[in-house]
Amino acid sequence: MMAVVKAGAYGHGLEEVARVFAQAGVAFLGVANVGEARRIAHAGIKCRIYLLGATWREEREEILDRDWTPCISSMEEARHFDALARARGKSLAVHLAVDTGMGRGGFVAEHLPDILAELQELEGLQIEGIGSHLPSADEDEEFTRAQFAQFAGIIDELGGEKTFAWRHLANSAGLLGYEPRDCNLARPGLMLYGISPLPSYQDALRPAMTLKSRVTLIRTLPTGHGVSYGRSFVTKRPTRVATIGMGYGDGYPRHVSGHAPRVYLRGQYFPILGRVTMDQMMIDVTDAAEVSEGDEVELFGSHISVNEVAQKADTISWHVLTGITARVVRLYL
Ligand SMILES: *Cc1c(COP(=O)(O)O)cnc(C)c1O
Repeated sequence: MMAVVKAGAYGHGLEEVARVFAQAGVAFLGVANVGEARRIAHAGIKCRIYLLGATWREEREEILDRDWTPCISSMEEARHFDALARARGKSLAVHLAVDTGMGRGGFVAEHLPDILAELQELEGLQIEGIGSHLPSADEDEEFTRAQFAQFAGIIDELGGEKTFAWRHLANSAGLLGYEPRDCNLARPGLMLYGISPLPSYQDALRPAMTLKSRVTLIRTLPTGHGVSYGRSFVTKRPTRVATIGMGYGDGYPRHVSGHAPRVYLRGQYFPILGRVTMDQMMIDVTDAAEVSEGDEVELFGSHISVNEVAQKADTISWHVLTGITARVVRLYL
């Protein structure tokens, strides 16, 4: 397994989470860029680091010195890494990225056979693996099946496991919904945090993150009183309104406003009234006299899925999780 810990381990905390996966014995930690790789190295975490994104020239000496593993998308990158490696009397392990449909990086599949011969002559590089990426494993089964078949074909054509010690294609949706043939490494991200990109598998997983706040204030507003910016909500009855100490400045998406968002506290669900503001939001607790200032509130977690929040905000759970800001204190249980 390559545990994908990019974007601060999907908002869960890069160093803390990377340490857990390293101790669990994953083969690689997958990061987006050198900045994230550096943070893991500085935290003293011992695990191979794989760079999922392209690198630029000024970063490559550091990559070599620290033995991070880049994926190669062009001959220009390959030649540069090769020259730097040979100047140090080293050989750097790299993986070939193949573009089988994502359109973001990698060698275009039909160019590969010619290029591989050229790459194998570069003595400073050790071609250790081959990887590709799935653009629609959670949306388009037919295309994804064809992609798995194409990737297996490419590996066969280029010499199979003799040429590539590591062969990887599946992200979370690829791993859950398909049976990767000819692959021996998976690159899950989202599912490691307990969220399934395919709803039918959610019961098999448990969300790692619960986003919580507290009721900071409770007041009763008269009929006809507006609540929050734009006064998009106006009370229709005397309304007991609880204010919660969290808002979009914490990463809770403002765009849920108007799509029947809800929070969970004391075993019940309560509707958010009007717009989510930067630091606070209001809920209707008129029918729950027991709700008090100081009560703990779940914004998402085991009672409200992050998928629900994402849907109401017209986005995806990856976006909501990675958007939780530094202001939110992370507690690890
Ligand atoms: C982010 C990423 C993953 C992980 O994707 P999930 O959908 O979160 O499992 C895997 N591979 C690559 C190349 C990625 O960029």
